[in-house]
Amino acid sequence: MLDIVDVGKRSLASYRGVAPDEQLDELVHLSEHLRGARCMHVNATSYGGGVSEILRSLVPLYNDLGITTDWKLIHGDEEFFQVTKRIHNGLQGAPGELTEKDKAVYLANAQRNASRLISDSEDYDFIFVHDPQPAVLAALSSLRESRWIWRCHIDTSHPNPSYWEFLAPFLTAYDAAVFTLDDFIPPELPIRDVHVYPPCIDPLSPKNHPLPEKLTKDLLEWIGIRTHRPLVTQVGRFDLWKDPLGVVRAYQRVRPHVPDLQLALVGSLALDDPEGWDVYKEVRSATAGDSLIHVLTNLVGVGNVEVNALQSISDVVIQKSIREGFGLTVSEAVWKGTPVIGGRVGGIPLQLPEGTGGVLVDTIEECAEHMLRLLRQPEEARLLGERGREHVRQNFLMPRLLRDHLLLLNELAA
Ligand code: UDP
Repeated sequence: MLDIVDVGKRSLASYRGVAPDEQLDELVHLSEHLRGARCMHVNATSYGGGVSEILRSLVPLYNDLGITTDWKLIHGDEEFFQVTKRIHNGLQGAPGELTEKDKAVYLANAQRNASRLISDSEDYDFIFVHDPQPAVLAALSSLRESRWIWRCHIDTSHPNPSYWEFLAPFLTAYDAAVFTLDDFIPPELPIRDVHVYPPCIDPLSPKNHPLPEKLTKDLLEWIGIRTHRPLVTQVGRFDLWKDPLGVVRAYQRVRPHVPDLQLALVGSLALDDPEGWDVYKEVRSATAGDSLIHVLTNLVGVGNVEVNALQSISDVVIQKSIREGFGLTVSEAVWKGTPVIGGRVGGIPLQLPEGTGGVLVDTIEECAEHMLRLLRQPEEARLLGERGREHVRQNFLMPRLLRDHLLLLNELAA
């Protein structure tokens, strides 16, 4: 058996008054023919990163609509996750070559997971496989009755051929694929039914639920943030694609002009991300001795509610990625009315259209320039955040994502 992730119960009715009514009404209609269906979502980790964040909200909502849905995890040891991290990076275009040993480690693990899957998934109508870590499961599984969907959350527009040529033949077993952007569809994808829709945030989760101001401040003082001083924050896994060191350099450029400016760098260290530890150590050594830079992790108890508080109270949130799938952290911050400076990559421009929610940057210098400008012009910053919030409400809240899922399932069931 694959490990099952326990999720709570949730009701779509509680999104009334938060998400657009017409989206909620449409869900009832779209789920009519799917009631009683069984669905499974499989990925590699139950915490740390966007996919687990989405599944934690999406899976209970599927159940609320009458589609019995499980969330399961593949097993893997550190060696396996080192290989999958290289595959993840290679598919996003990083240089390097997948060795024969890497392939053997990956496939042996996939085989074990496929055997576990057989024992517990005979009657799933739909199986969503998220990202490259479990991607070969469809090909190795004998469960041909289910409809298989590969949900690729990363930027596979220019994959390194060494990685792509290894993975692509296994993808023929899928009935459909989903990408975040048209641009991410890799060349010569061997899946014909391709869908494109971005992920979403959950406005009712502890990460995004409105917090009382006093509680927000108390929580942050507890972890060492001085809430009467200006603050900029980046939340993101310790990953070079998220450019945490670039954020530190941009901050250091601004600091002489705003001497009491604090920087919070929040990153979770996840099981399937062994590289995260190396980047974390680099960030620590680049910021050592600076008492105004706070490097915070899940390991010291900085979880969803603290992230919520940081995104709510920061003067500016940064997501200075140089390669990105979607970047949920952008919508999370904008939803709280906080303006974001985002790298012009992946799904970030979708979330920050001109004059809405924040600004896009290409360099450390631009990031610093806009940071200083927004800190000096709080009214402009506030207006940006306010306009962005409505954009997020219309486009990036959970009911919209559920609608796209139901459209896909209806099509596959037809
Ligand atoms: N996140 C978090 N704590 C951290 C780092 C990240 O809660 O220390 C969350 C973040 O709030 C967001 C998700 O993990 O919900 C990251 O998703 P995103 O799409 O930004 O990036 P990914 O990790 O999927 O590349």
